[in-house]
Formats: sequence, C-alpha cells, structure tokens
Amino acid sequence: MSVKRREKDLTLLEKIYIPEIVKGLSLTLKSMFKPKFTLKYPEEKFIPPASYRGRPVLVQEKDGHERCVACGLCSRVCPSLAIEVQAAETELEKERYPEKFEINMIRCIFCGFCEEVCPEEAIVMSKDYEMAFTNREEAIYGKDKLLVPVEQLQDRIDFLRKYK
Ligand code: SF4
Ligand code: SF4
Repeated sequence: MSVKRREKDLTLLEKIYIPEIVKGLSLTLKSMFKPKFTLKYPEEKFIPPASYRGRPVLVQEKDGHERCVACGLCSRVCPSLAIEVQAAETELEKERYPEKFEINMIRCIFCGFCEEVCPEEAIVMSKDYEMAFTNREEAIYGKDKLLVPVEQLQDRIDFLRKYK
C-alpha cells in the first residue's frame, strides 16, 4: 500500500510569517478599542450583584442577636460538612440560639444549600469573595466573623424573596 504525502508549496510571504504577524497585530489593535471587562484588582474592586454567591454569613438582627434558631438544618444539608452548630436555650422568644456556629471556609463550596434550606432567612450568601488564610484554624469562621448586620444583607434577602 502506497502512502501519499500531502505537500503544499508555501509562498515566500508565508515562509517568513509576515501575513500571520500582520493578522495577529490587527487583532491586538481591534481588541484595544473594545470595551474592557477586566478590573485593576485590588485597586478596583468588583461589586457583585445581589444574585452573587460569596461566603455564607449569619444575619444579625438590629438588636444585635443572630436570627438563627439553631435548628441545624443547614448543617445537615451541607454537602461538604462545613457547618457546625451547637444549640442552647435562650430567654428570647425564639427559645433556642446557636451557642456555637462555625463554618469551615476551606470546605465550603459556595453551593448556597444552607441558605436555601434555612427556614428563618438566618444564613445567606454574601458578596464577600475576599478570603485569605495562613493556616487551617484561621479558615474556621465563628460567630465573630459570620455575623453581619441585616441592613448590609437586605438586597440579598430581597433577591431571595423574589425568586422563592
Ligand atoms: S454554601 Fe454550601 S458548602 Fe458552603 S456552608 Fe453552605 S451548604 Fe455548606
Ligand atoms: S442558620 Fe438557619 S438552618 Fe442553620 S441552624 Fe440557623 S436557623 Fe437553622
């Protein structure tokens, strides 16, 4: 069986790559005048829309208490076992509150299941995407880092109500 070789004679211009260089330069020039989608981070920050799923946070009511009633549903639904809740009794009307509430941010995959399942709108996905840790312990966020005033989360809560 004979093998037929495919051969193409290149022109002189093709041999010295001039057309390809011109094509590349013209593409660069065209792109220079198109609208830019990149930001000079960290000087310029990305401000996400209400639909964005950043790190999960706990809603802090105006009186300073967490909205959470420590039912544990978020912890049970979390696919990466990132949430730990310890319930305790309280004199408040809600009767139970999370004595301890921790999210391991290394494990969290930002799926939003915790937010979806919470019957109290007590845990929501925030706009915070800036997280840095130097060790595993720092990545475990307790109530001190998780509680965010309700006013700062209102647009996310409104967004969730719109699509429920
Ligand atoms: S966003 Fe998903 S992975 Fe992260 S804590 Fe909530 S349920 Fe768990
Ligand atoms: S955040 Fe919501 S789902 Fe999780 S324990 Fe608190 S009330 Fe229950």
